[in-house]
Order: sequence, then structure tokens, then C-alpha cells
Amino acid sequence: MQFKQIPAFNDNYLWVIIQNQEAWVVDPGDANPIIQFFEKDHIALKGILITHHHMDHIGGVSQLLEWAKKSNQQSVTSVGPLHPAITFLDRVIEDQDDVELFPEVIAKVLAVPGHTLSHVAYYLPHSKSMSTPRLYCGDTLFATGCGRLFEGSANDMYQSLQKFAQLPEATLVCCAHEYTLSNIKFALTIEQNNTDLIEWSKQANELRNTNTPTVPTTIGLEKKVNPFMRCDLPSMMNFARQVTPAKLNTSSEVLAVIRKMKDSF
Ligand SMILES: [Zn+2]
Repeated sequence: MQFKQIPAFNDNYLWVIIQNQEAWVVDPGDANPIIQFFEKDHIALKGILITHHHMDHIGGVSQLLEWAKKSNQQSVTSVGPLHPAITFLDRVIEDQDDVELFPEVIAKVLAVPGHTLSHVAYYLPHSKSMSTPRLYCGDTLFATGCGRLFEGSANDMYQSLQKFAQLPEATLVCCAHEYTLSNIKFALTIEQNNTDLIEWSKQANELRNTNTPTVPTTIGLEKKVNPFMRCDLPSMMNFARQVTPAKLNTSSEVLAVIRKMKDSF
């Protein structure tokens, strides 16, 4: 198995999962860099996984399918959640469905509403061919942050991030954007004394100084540094209570407060 992350637009990553010169692409917002890579390395398109309907995640699909057809590649399978803007699917998936990417390589579908209502993530657990589990989470979880709440509620996002928190700590978080430095800046306004966050801030800044991606991170790291994954902590509740006159009782209310702060950060 090979894994590739292809930068696109200003700050997107397009993810590719390859075995024996065949590939699945996650959220091809732009077809051009993927086609370039496939032609250079003689890779055929086997399938497309979609996390949600935003254009920077589906905008390259028709061009990619057209290219595969023109180059006489065998049938390509497009998989994604039910949404009127996602018109090209061969298979509509739901929470807990399995998608067989390659023999013995299964992607488990997780419904993760919040950023959009029908958003899904794809989890590839540890297996014979997968030494490290991987999570393709679109715009739900970012390194040190989470997606904006365009359609879902703060409670939706809280529950979705809790699903991710149950995954093995080593799981690689393959998110769709390089937003890490600005997310870290925000996180530091909430947890100035979080030594893991301070250390991560140094590392991430060094990586970006040499134009190196900061993602994928891991679920283990996110639990230590990502405020949106830490809403259950009493210190987070205390922080949130200090910045709002509203009475807060639940962790999802804490998430609502800090997500709102981040919206105008
Ligand atoms: Zn999005």
C-alpha cells in the first residue's frame, strides 16, 4: 500500500490510496494534479471516496471520471453520502458501512455531521496491509481544530469528534486542509500553559517554514492539543464559563462557545 497527499488550491490536500498501480482518491476537488500524478506514475483510477458536497471536495470528479474513461480504464466506483449536490455516485453509503477498497483493505464509514449534515469520514483500521490506521475526515477534524458548523449543531460536531476520540491513538488524521498554524494560534489563546500544545506549535512552525505539511497528525496528538477534542476537561468548562454569561452545563455547550470564538478569530 502507498499513500499520497497532493496539495491543491491554496491549502487543500487531496488524498490518494494506492495498491498495485490502482488508486482510490478522497475528495478530488481538483482533477489536474491527480491526473498529472497518475500519468507520471502509470496509476489507474479505481474509485472515488467523497466526504461531503462542498465544491473543493467534489469539483474535480467529472474531469477525473472523463479522463479515466478516455484512457480506457476499467470501471471506476464513486462512493459518498446522500446529498442532492453529489450526483455521480455509484454507491450511497451510511454510518458503519464497509467499502472494500482492495482485497482485505476495508474503509469503515463513520457518519460525522457538524460541518455539513451528511458529512462522512472513512476509517481504515489496522490490518495485514495497513501498518498504521488512517482516518480520512474531510472538513470535520483538522490538525488542532475542527470544521465550521455550516449545517450541523455544536452537539453534532461534539458527538462526531467523540467518535474519532475512540479510534486508536496512532490513527493518522488525514484532513482536507492545511489550517494548522492558525488553529494553533487560536488554541494557545485558550490553553496558554498546555506544554504539549507549546511543543507542537514549535514543531508545526518549523515544518511550515520549510513548506512541509503538518498533516497527517494523529488522534493521540489531537487529544492533547486540539481544544475541540478537549471539551470534556474541567479546565475547558472553566474557560468557556469565563467568556460567556450563558449558563453552561455540557461539553457540547463548551464546544459551541469556542467554535463561535474561532469563527471570528
Ligand atoms: Zn467543506
